[in-house]
Amino acid sequence: MSVRLILVGPPGAGKGTQADLLCESLGIPPISTGAIFRSHASSGDELGKMAESFTSRGELVPDSVTNKMVAARLAQPDAAGGFLLDGYPRNLPQVAALDAILEDAGTHVDAVLSLIADDDEVVQRLLGRAASEGRVDDTEDVIRHRIELYHGQTEPLLAVYRERGILVEVPGMGTIEEVAANVQSELKAFLSK
Ligand code: ADP
Repeated sequence: MSVRLILVGPPGAGKGTQADLLCESLGIPPISTGAIFRSHASSGDELGKMAESFTSRGELVPDSVTNKMVAARLAQPDAAGGFLLDGYPRNLPQVAALDAILEDAGTHVDAVLSLIADDDEVVQRLLGRAASEGRVDDTEDVIRHRIELYHGQTEPLLAVYRERGILVEVPGMGTIEEVAANVQSELKAFLSK
């Protein structure tokens, strides 16, 4: 199915997992800016080192870098028939950058899925993940800072997309399977409108 989606949600809401499940069923590639930064960081290249100097503090990587990286990724052939962006856009300037990228390509976003989760729950999940996976940006202070940034910088996007009539809100609490079912049913209901 050719569909262009954005998945938004607080850190720890399970975006990556839900992105992969949904993409599998729709046959579109998930594009996660966080995962791309982590893969550069683990290969130790310049972009990776630079990104990690921000991600390890829970700061956003500068827009100039992120926007260029996303533009290049969206120009890859596998994204021509649709995609799901996970973790991008994350602030209002990135919304404008994405609008420009897609306008140049003659396309647009079909739907923005917003996972609704509560702060206490996501902090607990992230601390659990920090213990098991040891991600450098998963210490308690850094986690709190990432959540603050989410409320301050990322949440304002929701109003923009709501205004455009493409925001789809999805209850994000519960098991992976429950949330995946919510994602599927809300998206299906929206796209068949
Ligand atoms: P989470 O969903 O747990 O917050 P991500 O994997 O989406 O984690 O992102 C990890 C980190 O990568 C972010 O905290 C941020 O530092 C950086 N990052 C990811 N996406 C962006 C973006 N769109 N703009 C700037 N920085 C980003």
